[in-house]
Amino acid sequence: MAELDLESAKARVTEEVDRRADLLLEISHRVHADPELLFAEHRAAALVATALEDAGLDVQRGAFGLETAVAARAGTERPEAGAVAVLCEYDALPRIGHACGHNVIAAAGLGAGMAAASVAAEAGGGLLVLGTPAEEGGGGKILMGERGAFDGVGAAMMVHPSGFDLTEPEVIAVASIRVTYHGRSAHAAAYPELGRNALDAAVLGYSAVAALRQHIAPSERVHGVFTEAGEKPNIVPDRAVAEWYVRSATLESLQPLKQRVRACLEAGATAAGCTMEWEPTAPEYSDLRTNRPLADLYRHNSARVGRVVTEPGPGRRVTASTDMGNVSYLVPSIHPMMAISPASVSLHSTDFADWAAAPEGDRAVLDGAKAMAMTVVDLWLRPGAMGEVRAAFGAGP
Ligand SMILES: [Zn+2]
Ligand SMILES: [Zn+2]
Repeated sequence: MAELDLESAKARVTEEVDRRADLLLEISHRVHADPELLFAEHRAAALVATALEDAGLDVQRGAFGLETAVAARAGTERPEAGAVAVLCEYDALPRIGHACGHNVIAAAGLGAGMAAASVAAEAGGGLLVLGTPAEEGGGGKILMGERGAFDGVGAAMMVHPSGFDLTEPEVIAVASIRVTYHGRSAHAAAYPELGRNALDAAVLGYSAVAALRQHIAPSERVHGVFTEAGEKPNIVPDRAVAEWYVRSATLESLQPLKQRVRACLEAGATAAGCTMEWEPTAPEYSDLRTNRPLADLYRHNSARVGRVVTEPGPGRRVTASTDMGNVSYLVPSIHPMMAISPASVSLHSTDFADWAAAPEGDRAVLDGAKAMAMTVVDLWLRPGAMGEVRAAFGAGP
């Protein structure tokens, strides 16, 4: 077998992405035009799986017991250094569609995977492309990790669109909780004294959290919405439901904050003479440990496609949570952000959804695919690269 050198491998993966540009952008646009919610990304997962099969990867649909998860392999089986994993998200948000731009993530990951697969055997590397469902609330990557998705993986990467090209977002831990209040129904005019108002309980709990917010760390976040709040004004609501996200820097600091939020919400129930149920709706997302050597490789490759990736700074940061955080505790990981919109546009807005299918979103698909494919090639062929990545991971956060 002819020896493959690093520079020619990078040139080849870049050409592979360009050669498949039409397909990648078509998939990005099709996923964007057909938003599917967490764990129901059937058509998006099928598009990704079919494209990987067509590119010759060994594809498993419904991987790790999740209907909309995909696992595709190429290159050397069980390489000593571990396989390199590229992750594709594809879930959307209710009503505002692809306002987190996961169509860009799916197509960029797909492009990187197809391009890297084309040189994997020659490079002697192992590749794993994962389609990961339910980033928006379901913790798909956490469930996949618990079921062995990252066993034998040496490093993992994905890109996420935003208003900046950043090495890393400020990823903090989050708990997702559904709170259900139970009261007693009654005619609101004829028998108000017989009612116990579950909506009052929810409102008082919400107000208590608003007071709590004045006395939490600046980096902490608590936000909730009411998803059920009664049917008619003349029926005292006997049931109200709210969903809450509680965020703190780490899983450890999240625990006491969660208890303070719970106390606020229970105070609402007590005041209104109601009872309250508290149930997590997803596994807790952890903070993200960005692997520095891996981020450095990505930064150089990103610069090669004309994107200067910078460190977060004043006015240039994205504070959010992702289940990639949990992955970063299992294997060395990066989650860089790619600019597809002006910095003033918020993720999870209808404006951002428009950018995700605009020419800027398309450019991120191709740039992200190339930068990640070249980073995979670095891990395979650059002497000592994987060793540095592993050493930094072993050194801890
Ligand atoms: Zn999001
Ligand atoms: Zn997202």
